[in-house]
Order: sequence, then structure tokens, then C-alpha cells
Amino acid sequence: MPELRNVVIIGSGPAGLTAAIYTARADLAPLMIEGEPSSTSDQPGGQLMLTTEVENFPGFPDGIMGPELMGNFRAQAERFGADILTARVTKVDLSERPFRIWTGDPGAEQPTYLARSVVIATGASSLMLGLESEARLLGHGLSTCATCDGFFFRDQDIVVVGGGDSALEEALFLSRFGRTVTVVHRRKELRASKIMQDRAFANDKLTFLWDTVVDDILGSDRVEGVRLRNVLTDEVQDRAAAGVFVAIGHRPNTDLFVGQLPLKDNGYLITEGSTSRTAVEGVFACGDVQDDWYRQAITAAGSGCMAAIDAERWLEAQGH
Ligand code: NAP
Repeated sequence: MPELRNVVIIGSGPAGLTAAIYTARADLAPLMIEGEPSSTSDQPGGQLMLTTEVENFPGFPDGIMGPELMGNFRAQAERFGADILTARVTKVDLSERPFRIWTGDPGAEQPTYLARSVVIATGASSLMLGLESEARLLGHGLSTCATCDGFFFRDQDIVVVGGGDSALEEALFLSRFGRTVTVVHRRKELRASKIMQDRAFANDKLTFLWDTVVDDILGSDRVEGVRLRNVLTDEVQDRAAAGVFVAIGHRPNTDLFVGQLPLKDNGYLITEGSTSRTAVEGVFACGDVQDDWYRQAITAAGSGCMAAIDAERWLEAQGH
């Protein structure tokens, strides 16, 4: 018979770990299934594991390295008795209670765990260009978050890849710091909204390279530039840059829940009003998997706390 848990938390970024800290301190003996190591952002500890210095997480006036911060979250959750399992959830069945959760073979008849409540904190992955150099340079001049890392590129040359609202928002933010900001877009028309385009075109620091793709990011242990290719002429040129920001969109990690929980048109989980409640009673969602707007470690942690409190109160109301 699979083990029955009060709370199973799926995902282990700032949201999942904060939910683990709070539910553990509430004596709910949570199990957090943290995922498995991979080279992308959907890995244990979430996107901060791929970041170097974090300077905007309150409480660390001198900044802290992303992996160290997540190590602290984890130690705090374990100190209060949260169980952490390194495994990937391969299937969930939220159609009846207790909820059923599989790790390993999703075709197995028996689930691995039963859960009275579930906290979903599977996060979102930044879309990447698919270059080998990205794995090497992420956190070393290559970033997917201007709010997090823009500050490090004061008076330097910066490249932003993408043509949507995110790319222009990142480029505009980065123009406060960089010496130059070059937006590299694969077509001649931007996908971004008119208002963002107007702002971007009015900004003196921004220049645009149209019909251009990034074939490689240059530098062995720090970004030194990009290799660009014009898709119309096939002309290749190297361009020096200290910072490269890839802003080609995000993908929420919701594959497990398709058909079981309602999703927004853009794939993010829907939560009710300002709570962490999903459409299924007893199932709560927090962090980037349900946040297509703020996407910060601190907001993810805050919403993990909300999900823990929502789960705790719901379990209590159920008499557990
Ligand atoms: P998006 O709208 O999907 O734009 C992605 C951009 O990246 C597109 O220009 C796309 O090029 C380009 N791209 C995709 N894959 C690429 C690749 N492999 N190589 C090179 N370029 C690639 O994503 P987003 O900008 O993250 O925006 C997502 C949603 O959030 C949108 O609805 C947006 O309006 C919203 N948003 C709003 C704001 C705001 O209002 N301030 C800010 C951020 C996001 P193509 O154009 O050629 O497809």
C-alpha cells in the first residue's frame, strides 16, 4: 500500500521549499519531491541554482550566491522535519482523494504516494536558444532575468535576444545600466505590443539588429560576445558583449496537470483570486507555475508560504 502523506509538495524552488518550511513547522510532516538534476531550469532548487549572485533577496545585504541561498532554504526545511525525495514526479491523479502521485514508471498500477493535499510548485523554465554554450555560461554573463542581473553590467555592452514584450522590457530595464543595449531579433517585425515598441524606439541606448540570430555565445568561463548571423544574407559577425540576456519566453512546468487542472491560455495554472487554491479542493499552487507576471524568488517564496497556510487550514477543516 503506498504511503499516505498529509502534504506532498511537488517542486523545490523558493516556492516549494517555503511551503516545506511552513508545513513542517505546522507539524504536517510534508514530503517534498524535488525533481532530478538536469541542465535546464526545471531542476532541484529551481532557477536560482543556475544563477550566481543574488542581490535582491531581502535579508542578505551583501548578496548571496543562488545555490547557497537554496541550500539555506533546504537546510531550514530539513531542520523542521520535511522529507525531501530526489525524484521526478511522472504522473498525478487529482480526480479523487486521497490524491495519487507516481514517481518512476507512470504505467505502474499503484502510485508511489497518496496525499491528502498537494502543493504544486513546479516552476517555469526560461526558454533557451538551444546552444551548447548556454549551459556553460548561464550565470556567468548569460542571464534570463534583467531584474536579477542587470546591475552587474553597469557601463558594459549588453545583448538582448528576442522580439516580444519580455525582450523589450528587459532591454529598457538594462538601458539604465549598460553602455549599449542591442536587441537581436530573428525577424524584421517585433512581436511586442505597440506601447513597448514606442518606448523602445524612443530610447537612445537601444539599437536593433533585425533578421539576426545568435549562432553562439562566446567566452570560455565568462561571456565575451556573441556570434551573429543575418538570416537573409547568411553573413556572420562576432560582437563583443559582457552580458547576454535571452528573453524569448517562459514555459510553465504544467505538463503533469494538463486535463486535470484548468490552465490559462498561456499554460500557467489558474489559482483563485489572491489565494493559492486551484479548481480542485485540496490542491494548491504557488510560485512561477502560476505566476506569469512577477517571477521573482521573493514572490515565489511568499506564495509558497500562502500555499502552506491554505493547505494547513484546509486539512484542519477536513479534520486532519
Ligand atoms: P513571446 O511574446 O512569445 O515572444 C517571444 C519572442 O522571442 C518572439 O519575438 C520570438 O520571435 C522570439 N523567439 C522565440 N523563440 C526564439 C528562438 N529560438 N530564437 C530567437 N528568437 C526567438 O514571449 P514574451 O515576450 O516572454 O511574452 C509572453 C507574454 O507575456 C506575452 O503575452 C507578452 O505580451 C506578455 N508580457 C507582457 C509584458 C508587458 O506588458 N510589460 C512584459 C513581458 C511579457 P518571433 O516574434 O519571430 O516569434
